[in-house]
Amino acid sequence: MKLAKINKWFGEKHVLKDVSLEFPAGQTTVLVGPSGSGKSTILRSLNLLEQPDRGTYDFDELHLNFAKSVSRKQKLLLRQKTGMVFQDYNLFPHLTVLQNVTEGPIRVLKKSKETANQEALEILSKVGLRDFADAYPAQLSGGQAQRVAIARALAMKPEYVLLDEPTSALDPELELEVLRVLLRLAQENQSLIIVTHNMVFARRVADKIVFVEDGTIKYDGDPAAFFVPDNPDERIRHFIAAMT
Ligand code: ADP
Ligand code: MG
Repeated sequence: MKLAKINKWFGEKHVLKDVSLEFPAGQTTVLVGPSGSGKSTILRSLNLLEQPDRGTYDFDELHLNFAKSVSRKQKLLLRQKTGMVFQDYNLFPHLTVLQNVTEGPIRVLKKSKETANQEALEILSKVGLRDFADAYPAQLSGGQAQRVAIARALAMKPEYVLLDEPTSALDPELELEVLRVLLRLAQENQSLIIVTHNMVFARRVADKIVFVEDGTIKYDGDPAAFFVPDNPDERIRHFIAAMT
């Protein structure tokens, strides 16, 4: 999966400036950087929640050129290949945990209710919530709700799971239970792309670190070389010092 020379404007504001990035399959890419630098816009572009104005996006057999039009079919295919998990969970309040997880597989993937239920229960076990299948979102802690949101994304069998600050709404102890689930998925070589401000977690989970600043990529590579106290880039050095 690869973006090349992506540019995006919101009105007059140039928010992504020639962003080129590869996201290796089976690995975890972590995007970090100051607020407003463009991290969410990159993630949302991968899922086509935002459409860049220029640049290309290659994913398996799909080749999108944003200077031309993107077809509805291309959009749907890309949405299936990428599952997004949001900061505020976005669960359906009137559905049970199980129904939240099976809704997409039944409606979009046309799975039978039996198959969808069985797969959902397996995924819920994986995120430690098998016993909460019949609970409603209002009965869950934030950490549990976010794990349901992750289960819901996984149930759609996306190639990549995209997570935009998945724990920033959570207290530290609830954050931990979500981070454990993500570490486990990373160990299983689920392709992940995570935006986070948690540098300890970033360092632990990342196969690749991307530092975004003012709509440009200032670092793209090995986490070990990024998290060094004497990083040669002064901005990165200050950012890491301020965040840890
Ligand atoms: P980050 O996730 O790194 O905090 P964002 O990608 O959310 O940054 O935002 C990048 C820039 O684009 C910011 O200046 C933000 O205010 C602006 N922006 C984001 N979304 C919109 C939008 N829908 N309309 C106008 N400006 C936006
Ligand atoms: Mg953001």
